[in-house]
Amino acid sequence: MPTLRWRPTPPFAYRRWVERNVHAHQVAGYRAVTLSVKRAGQAPGDATDAQLDAAADLADRFSLGELRVTHDQNLLLPWVKSDDLPVLYAAVKAAGYATPNIGLITDMIACPGGDFCALANARSIPVAAELTERLADLDEVFDLGEIDLHISGCINSCGHHHSGHIGILGVDKDGTEWYQVTLGGSDGSHHAPVAVPGKVIGPAFAASEIADAVEAILDTYRAQRQAGEKFIDALRRLGLEPFKAAANACRTTTARESTEAVAA
Ligand code: SF4
Repeated sequence: MPTLRWRPTPPFAYRRWVERNVHAHQVAGYRAVTLSVKRAGQAPGDATDAQLDAAADLADRFSLGELRVTHDQNLLLPWVKSDDLPVLYAAVKAAGYATPNIGLITDMIACPGGDFCALANARSIPVAAELTERLADLDEVFDLGEIDLHISGCINSCGHHHSGHIGILGVDKDGTEWYQVTLGGSDGSHHAPVAVPGKVIGPAFAASEIADAVEAILDTYRAQRQAGEKFIDALRRLGLEPFKAAANACRTTTARESTEAVAA
């Protein structure tokens, strides 16, 4: 297999991919590589048969035939030789798995929700799609840094909403979709090492409000963070109130009345 080495400085996009999608390995000379299954136009974790065939080919070529599915709805090549990374990057990019967003907000978890699951109270995928569309600017996503956003369509919690820094839970009221927001949860991963459930910030938001509410929470972080401070750390320093106030400001009058009824 040809080994391609960048000289003198690798392209910016490659460096971003290495930063986010390539991970340390216990065996010298190897890396683990995440194939991002999070991109605009497809539900988080969804892949076509052709895309899965391409992932299988990548595993055969670069990872001793081994490919793993991760709990956060991505694919992992666990046995990649460090020297193969530049060639692998080109192949991963061609296969559509090179979005350098692992651990960032667009690497969100979303359960199938009401589009596919008979148990759902609300749809998850349209919420994920709207947020992905609003966060299409990769520079903005990098600026926001590591944020776990998790969406579940019902209290069965397959989207692990309770462990998201930002969690969204679909709830039902008389056949209408509503979305409860939790903040400050953590799954104990490296960027928030203590596992805790998030706290509910108030009555549920209407489907038409939920994306605005999340955006308001992110705007509050941007406005009030300290230099280099991660979202979860800013949230713990500032407390829920400023984020809650910003999200609540996105409610329409009608929704506010209705959510008070939901909470009653
Ligand atoms: S969280 Fe609820 S809606 Fe989502 S997949 Fe699980 S059971 Fe279905």
